[in-house]
Amino acid sequence: MSKSSSASATEQSQSFTDNQEFTSNHRGISSYYGELVFGPIAQSGYLSENAISEIGRAVNDGHAIGREIADEVANGMKDWALDMGATHYTHWFQPLRGTTAEKHDSFFEPTGIDTGIEVFSGKALAQQEPDASSFPSGGIRNTFEARGYTAWDPSSPAFIIEKGGIRTLCIPTIFVSYTGEALDYKAPLLKTLAFVRKAATDVCQYFDSNIIDCSVSLGVEQEYFLVKEDLYYQRPDLMYTGRTLIGHLPPKGQQMEDHYFGSIPTKVQVFMNDFEQQAHRLGIPLRTRHNEVAPGQFECAPQFETLNLAVDHNTLLMDVMEAVASDHGFRVLLHEKPFKGINGSGKHNNWSLLTNTGVNLLSPGKNPDQNLQFLTFFINVIKAVHDHADLLRASIATVGNDHRLGANEAPPAIMSVFVGDTLEDVLNRFEADIDNADGAHDAGSINIPNIPEILLDNTDRNRTSPFAFTGNKFEFRAVGSSDNCSSSMVVLNAIVANQLVEFKNKVDAEIAKNASAKKTDCIEKVLRGELSSSKKVIFGGNGYSDEWVQEAAKRGLNNIKNTAEALAAYMSEASIDLFVRNGIFSHKELEARTEIRYETFVLSIELEAKVLGEMVQNFVIPSAIRYQSRIADNVSKLLAIGLTKESISAQMEMLNTLSGLINQAHQKNALLSELTNSVNEIESAQERAIAYNNKLKPLFEEVRIVCDLIEKLVDDSEWSLPKYRELLTLN
Ligand code: ADP
Ligand code: MG
Repeated sequence: MSKSSSASATEQSQSFTDNQEFTSNHRGISSYYGELVFGPIAQSGYLSENAISEIGRAVNDGHAIGREIADEVANGMKDWALDMGATHYTHWFQPLRGTTAEKHDSFFEPTGIDTGIEVFSGKALAQQEPDASSFPSGGIRNTFEARGYTAWDPSSPAFIIEKGGIRTLCIPTIFVSYTGEALDYKAPLLKTLAFVRKAATDVCQYFDSNIIDCSVSLGVEQEYFLVKEDLYYQRPDLMYTGRTLIGHLPPKGQQMEDHYFGSIPTKVQVFMNDFEQQAHRLGIPLRTRHNEVAPGQFECAPQFETLNLAVDHNTLLMDVMEAVASDHGFRVLLHEKPFKGINGSGKHNNWSLLTNTGVNLLSPGKNPDQNLQFLTFFINVIKAVHDHADLLRASIATVGNDHRLGANEAPPAIMSVFVGDTLEDVLNRFEADIDNADGAHDAGSINIPNIPEILLDNTDRNRTSPFAFTGNKFEFRAVGSSDNCSSSMVVLNAIVANQLVEFKNKVDAEIAKNASAKKTDCIEKVLRGELSSSKKVIFGGNGYSDEWVQEAAKRGLNNIKNTAEALAAYMSEASIDLFVRNGIFSHKELEARTEIRYETFVLSIELEAKVLGEMVQNFVIPSAIRYQSRIADNVSKLLAIGLTKESISAQMEMLNTLSGLINQAHQKNALLSELTNSVNEIESAQERAIAYNNKLKPLFEEVRIVCDLIEKLVDDSEWSLPKYRELLTLN
């Protein structure tokens, strides 16, 4: 039975035509790229050179912008926004739930009965006070102290969002409580960025005194599913939880493996083109698009940017994709695991460090000098991941991601680092080298193995590692597709920065101990120690295999399978020390954030339990009963005309089976709601989360098995929910 209506066909062709018009009016992406952004080009028409250079300094070194300049910037931004057709502005921020938040204010200020002006002051640009009481705060803010404020982040440019033809100026901001605690993703991210920049720059000084600053780069590959919008609205589970809670696999699923890099269905391509255009106009540097492994699954990836911008852009991109999809009769599913038995979605975070002199610190250079610099950063990242693997695991722990990590598809829940054969060999030879503190070297030579400059080919093959070195960057692949990248990037930045500081302290101590020793020898010596104590985290084999699970256990690497368990790492001594000592989070903030994570986990599963319960009651059981009645009707008619029960044994059997399944569905459903009520009695958020995970989630599976058996059994026409085979077909 086909549930897809053709209602949206005309709209689709309409929007396709608009697109073609748009495209034919422009020559290449560069002709409209960034046109909705208050970037350097727009600024040049509205701001003085002085103001532009102040913004530049804020972008480059976090320099604070003074009140007078802020007034000028606000005024220029307002004039630009008015010229662009906007009447309102909003502070755009990323609260600790879902995507983004906005509260719109108009520039307009009445001055008399029928007169008014448009104003926007530096004060309004710099700070706003949205009512914060409805955003999660993890108990930081009592309801009577509901105030929170947003503060301008000049390092991310303002932009204009268009919705239904209405344009609004959006100003990226951080969001903090009135008492100064961060209530969003961005505020701590900016702190870790400053931390890692400083730590990396200090270490670079060993190699090149011209390096006075470093930046962190990030390129986010985003996977997603598409479903037809009309089918989506017929699936309460997709609508409310983002994933299907019941539904059995179609005969032709991913086992065909013909979807990956296959040709993109035309309607999907039109959608992609449309959202890419929107993204490009917003200055989001999207470059690639392709099919992913699963049917209905796709990926897009931008060119990397500085990390703060890349995170904002990824967050904005998710909004844009969702908004544009509707124009094409699609819904975007960003959930990590929308369909059981079919590959889920992730968000690969490609991360590296760049110097002000233009050197990628994770790119092996042409000569041995650069090799030592490369090895220094390379080994320190490995050591950081080794020392804080549990925290890294916690940073990606979400209810959706639990369906991927540890399942046989996505990166495993064991945090390990893939470096490729060539570099594993380099590291082994480097480590085995005798310590050269006695100065046995030829003058000027550095005793480290040679590293080929181009590593891309032999480092990019392992797809099963959660944290892989891919030639000139590390790729953290275990991040969930719907997640805000900040949580994982806060941890990665912080652990690397902390490690770089510790490394430098050790090297400095080594140099102080032996004044005649060569600096490079001291660096090598310390590096060898760091490598020896962390190399067990390096793994180049198949991360999905059972052997790895055993091997990892032998190595003492943790395999933390679910969020309820993983989150505890945030409150470990090591984590508290890392974050509090380095001024990233106060103890209170860390506690509050962890609490929010537990709460979000529990609320999501609770919602799933409710939706599942309703679906069983309102869709599954009624479908089974309707079908059963039809069979019963058929049976009584057949018996009436004289057939024997034996001769209609098939119908009799189906009646029995259906009765059994209906009973089971009914009982398990009752159990589900009883259990939900009882686990909700548990006071501690952590324990409640564990109970939700260990008790409630397994019951979901039991309910699902019964429902899926019913789905397989009943007549298609009695099954009122769109099936997997329909959901996964986009043509
Ligand atoms: P894949 O991982 O699918 O092979 P690519 O090699 O094209 O894809 O890179 C994926 C992402 O990594 C892109 O967003 C790209 O811009 C980004 N990337 C490349 N170099 C760097 C770097 N030095 N720092 C951060 N990201 C990078
Ligand atoms: Mg990749």
